[in-house]
This record gives sequence, structure tokens and C-alpha cells, in this order.
Amino acid sequence: MGLNEKNTAGLKSPVTVLPGLGPKKAEALERLKIRTIEDFLCFYPRDYEDRRSISFIMDLREGEPSLVRAVLRQVRKGPYVPRKKRLLRLLVEDQSGVMEVLFFNALWLEKNLKPGETYLLFGTMTVRAGKRQMVHPEMSRWTGEEERGILPVYPLTAGISQNEMRKWQRAAALFYKEAEEYMPPGVLAENRLCGLDYALENIHFPKDIQKLKEARYRLVFEELFLLQTSLLALRNRVTQEAAGIPFSSRVKLSDFGKTLPFPLTGAQKRVMAEIDRDMESPGVMNRLVQGDVGSGKTAVAAAAVYKAVKSGYQAVLMAPTEILARQHFESLGDQFRDLGFQVDFLSGSMTAKERQIVLTELASGRTDFLIGTHAVIQPGVEFARLGLAITDEQHRFGVRQRGLLSQKGCRPDTLVMTATPIPRTLAFILYGDLDISIIDEMPPGRLPIVTKSVEESQRDLVYDFLAKEVEKGRQAYVVAPLIEDSEALEETRSAASLFEEVSKRFPEKKAALLHGEMTQKEKDRIMEAFYNNEVQILVSTVVIEVGINVPNATIMVIENAERFGLAQLHQLRGRVGRGSHQSYCVLITSGNTPVAKERAAIMAETSDGFRIAEKDLELRGPGELFGTRQHGLPQLKIADLCRHGKVLSAVSAAAKKILSEDPRLEKPENQGLRQKIEKTFEKLEDFG
Ligand code: ADP
Ligand code: MG
Repeated sequence: MGLNEKNTAGLKSPVTVLPGLGPKKAEALERLKIRTIEDFLCFYPRDYEDRRSISFIMDLREGEPSLVRAVLRQVRKGPYVPRKKRLLRLLVEDQSGVMEVLFFNALWLEKNLKPGETYLLFGTMTVRAGKRQMVHPEMSRWTGEEERGILPVYPLTAGISQNEMRKWQRAAALFYKEAEEYMPPGVLAENRLCGLDYALENIHFPKDIQKLKEARYRLVFEELFLLQTSLLALRNRVTQEAAGIPFSSRVKLSDFGKTLPFPLTGAQKRVMAEIDRDMESPGVMNRLVQGDVGSGKTAVAAAAVYKAVKSGYQAVLMAPTEILARQHFESLGDQFRDLGFQVDFLSGSMTAKERQIVLTELASGRTDFLIGTHAVIQPGVEFARLGLAITDEQHRFGVRQRGLLSQKGCRPDTLVMTATPIPRTLAFILYGDLDISIIDEMPPGRLPIVTKSVEESQRDLVYDFLAKEVEKGRQAYVVAPLIEDSEALEETRSAASLFEEVSKRFPEKKAALLHGEMTQKEKDRIMEAFYNNEVQILVSTVVIEVGINVPNATIMVIENAERFGLAQLHQLRGRVGRGSHQSYCVLITSGNTPVAKERAAIMAETSDGFRIAEKDLELRGPGELFGTRQHGLPQLKIADLCRHGKVLSAVSAAAKKILSEDPRLEKPENQGLRQKIEKTFEKLEDFG
């Protein structure tokens, strides 16, 4: 902790050192992850109320939150009706006029109101039947020294009021000076960022809007900067600390392309050339290949395997599920055996004996190409000369697992494949530790999937249509948001009840139920049955999102489509349209909110995963879109990757600059940053 060591005791103190904060409140604060003073300082407002000036009732404008000081003239209580909200109707007056104030179920307030006294009200005025009204304003007795200024509005939890939160935050302000400034002075100066205590003061209790902006900019910058430098430092560790393998420049990825029965797309060629360059360089490749479902990532990965093996090394491909791994083994296995490679398979479901055989082949170097599940990163799996490690459907693996895979050899090159399209601004942060290649072109000749959005009332028609497809010999997916019926979500269908419904409706066909709470074994068994067409209708939750390939499946019905995000719908839809038959995706929506409608329209209009991802980002925000968990990144506190895209370029320039000047962060002025990064690493590993 360096120079500030003596002070940090204060920051690390439990919240109960604040006046009026007892163990009970502390328990409630735990739910907001507030345990220490420091947590308080970093618990930022979600919004602000501008209470700098008091308005006259007659000057209030509809819909504008404002502060009023008025005398209470009248209190009228509505009748008490069991289970109905009880109405409290007040009349208040200032020198300009009168206004009605309404509260529902506000017994606590009722007791404390005294006609004739002066109160402060903060709320939004509306006009009803010619009368000025405020519903549920914040109301407190005027003491002569009212809270003025721009007031913070914090996220709350049961048992904590906004007033309490503000009171404690005010008390915690004593500690702003103790907060340790770890941003290097050069970065602060060059980016014109304010100091930490100034930022804290003005994010909580801004003096004016300009200061609030300065404070927010600094904190957003800081958060993104920390994440970015951490990821870049992680990449530096892997790529620079040891030399990688320079693969032969005589074998090109495109040479493998020549063995394929189709011409490569332009995008595939471009990405292959990027990988050629990385693999031939003496550094370690750390590359992410992004491409929509069906864009031909596997061919690119296979070409990299070809180059690695032809250069005399082993390659490994890790898939997130057994069935995906097996699919790769079937298709790639045949392809590579024809070229004279030895291809082996490793998964957790093998017997000890089978496993031992594979391990021996691998360690002896006879295996050229290993395909498998997580089993390939387990202890005991030794390669003779691993040169290339590939993970498929990356979003299922965390940063740490990626790391484990690359530790299996002496600095093998790594390639990560993902079908989750991510807008560039985001990819930069999420994959700051990787270089990015994008396959943004689909192989020609594919029939676009026909996407329709319908309302609940048309469900029967949808299932009649599904019946026709199944009669033709095709297979179908039915997706529901829940596993089982839930009382809280009455309108939402569950996979379990749909499975019953579908089984009754199509007695002569075989339906199966699949959901996330099944064991991997059960899931694999059902997927296998669907793959082999022993099951015609697969009813499931979103577990099928990850790349299973069943070309005979031509229709997907998504129930309660309004409950899924756009990116998720797009991923789901990618399960059909993989064969030569026309495919269909039907979204059944109930509750026609504008957002639901807009989403359905976008789905029907485009199949461009990147466009869909950008839209999803706009409509929902990144938190939901990429459950940061699945990307192995810590939760962001203040930065919003949608709104702060512009800050990102400044952040990444600053991050790159500091790491190029001081790659190991050894300079004294960078020590604070370095420690913070170590902590971020720990978090990254936790999430891995
Ligand atoms: P992804 O892994 O990106 O979802 P795949 O690599 O599985 O996609 O490719 C989907 C299908 O398209 C496969 O059947 C593959 O053989 C085929 N394919 C790949 N590249 C091309 C191409 N350039 N032209 C025609 N078909 C292709
Ligand atoms: Mg794939």
C-alpha cells in the first residue's frame, strides 16, 4: 500500500464506524456489497436530483422534477378498504398557489403530518382535471436549513432509505482524502483527469453539473483503464515473457483451403492470412476469431491445425461440450486422416483404459491432432510438442481456462473461436488480451432463414406449421424461457409444460426435453438422440445456444420471445438453416411492449449478427447482453460500454502508451497501478 499505509486503516474500517449505522443496517448494506468505508466511497449514485433552487407551485412545469416549499393546509385520508391501497390526499400552498399531493399506503407519513407546518417536496408535477398534483414526492419537514444542491440518488435495498444512504455518504466524505490515488500522474495529466478526492466529492455531492461531468469522466476512464491495462498486461505476460514458436512459412493456411470441396470466402482468406502472419512470427499468437454461426470458422481453425502439424507440432482443439467435441472429431477426424494425420479424441466420459491409450499416444508425439472437451486441460495430459491450442465457442471458457490450455506446451500459439458477435468497441475491452479477426462474410448459396414474429393468439397456427415440417421428415426446436412453471411468472411458458403439450399434440413423433439443470451426461444423451433423428422435436431452455449442428432441423419456435435478448435470439436461430432445406424461426411474443416489437422487427429484418449485437447493446446494455461472468470479466461499477464508447479510444491509447514505456510497470510512479492490476488479475482468475 506504500506511502498511504497508515491511512488505509480508515478506509478498510467496517461501515459501522459511521454514526447511526448499527449491525442491522450493516447487514442490509451487505446486500449492496458495501462492507467497508471504501465500499461506500465506490458506491456511486445511479442518478441525481437537482435541488439547487426552490420553485413556485405556479411556475412548475409538467414532467420536470422540482423542489417546492409549501405549507400543509389539509390532510384527507381515504377510507380503509382491506387489500386496497389507502389514499392520502394533501393540499399544500405556497405564495403562488395550491397543489394536491397524493400518497398511497403512507401510514408512516400520516402520523407525522401537521397542518400549518412548512414542508419541502421534491417530485414531478402533473395536471389532472385542471388541478396541479404531485404523486409520491419526497417530503420532509422544512427545518430552515434544507438540503440544497444536486443530490445523489443511490441504488437501494430493503431496509435502507435514500435519506439514510445520503446521510452515511455525507459522513463518509471525511475519508475522501485518504483514498489512494493509483492512477499514474502522467496519465492523469495527459488525459486531463481530475484527482481522486475531487472525483469522489463531486460524484457523490457535485457542486455543479460541470464538476459532476469531470468527476464522472475521471471515474469512467479509470475503470476502463484499469481493465484495459490488466488485459494488455496479461497478454504481454503470455506473448513477451517467453518466445513462441515460429512456424514454417512454407506451409500456408490457404494450402489447406485447396483440399476443401469449396472455394474459401474472401473473409476466410483474409483471416487465414492474419493467422499465417501470427504463426510465423516468433511471438506467441493470441487471436480471437469472431464469426457468425455458419460463417466457416471451423475451416479456418482446421487450416491452422494443418500448418501446425505440417511444421512438425501437435495441435489441440477444445470444445465446451462433449457433443460438440464429437461432432468436430467426426468431421475433422475424417478430413485429417485422409491427409495422413493421426487424430485422437479425449473426453471425460471415456474409461480409464481408453484415456490411458490416448495419453500415451499424445505424450509419445504420435498424435498430431487432439480433439476433446475440458478433459484436455486436466492434469496428466502431456503433449510431446504442442504448438497450437484452439478453443471453440470461446464464451463458454474463462480467461483462466484459456491460460491453462496454453500452459500445456512451451508457449503454444492460441486461437479462440467465437460465434458471439461483439461490437468492436466492446470487443476491445472484453478481449483486450487478444488480437481479433472477424469473418464477416457468409459462404454463398445459403437459404436465408425465414423469421416471423407472431402473437400468442396465433400459437395454434404456428404449431400446425411445425407439424407440417415434421411430417416432411424435418426436425424442430421449441425453446422456452423457463424450465418449470412459475407462479411469479404466470404468463411465461416453461419447457416442462411445453414438453407435455408437444408430446400430446404429436403422439406419433418423439419429443424430448432438455434443460440446464440436467447433468452433462443426460444433456449429451438427448443431443445425441436429436442428432441421430431418434428425437424429432426438442423442447428446451436456452441450453442449445452453443453450437450443435443438426442440418435436418429446419424450424425453431421460440416461446415468450420477449424474454430473450436479441443476441440470444440470434444465437438460437443459428441452430436452424444449417442444411439445404428452407428453415424457419418463429418468435411468439406476448405482451407487446415497444422494445419487444422493435426486437422482433430487427430479427425479421436482418441476419447480420454484428448489427444485431449493436442493436442489442442499444436496447439492453452490455451487462445483460454479455453476462460479464461468461466473459470472465469483473462487473463494471460506473462505466457503461454503450454510452462510453468514446472514452474507450482515449483509454486504450493511454493503456498502450503506459505499457510500451514501462512494460512490467516497474517505475515508482506506476506501483499503485501495478498493485491494482494484480488485484484485477485475481478477479479475472476467480471468474475464469
Ligand atoms: P461455424 O463454425 O463458423 O459456425 P462451420 O465452420 O461449421 O461454421 O461451417 C458451416 C458449414 O459451412 C460447414 O458445413 C462448412 O463445411 C461450410 N463452409 C465453410 N466454409 C465454406 C465456404 N467457403 N463455402 C461453402 N461452404 C463452406
Ligand atoms: Mg463452429
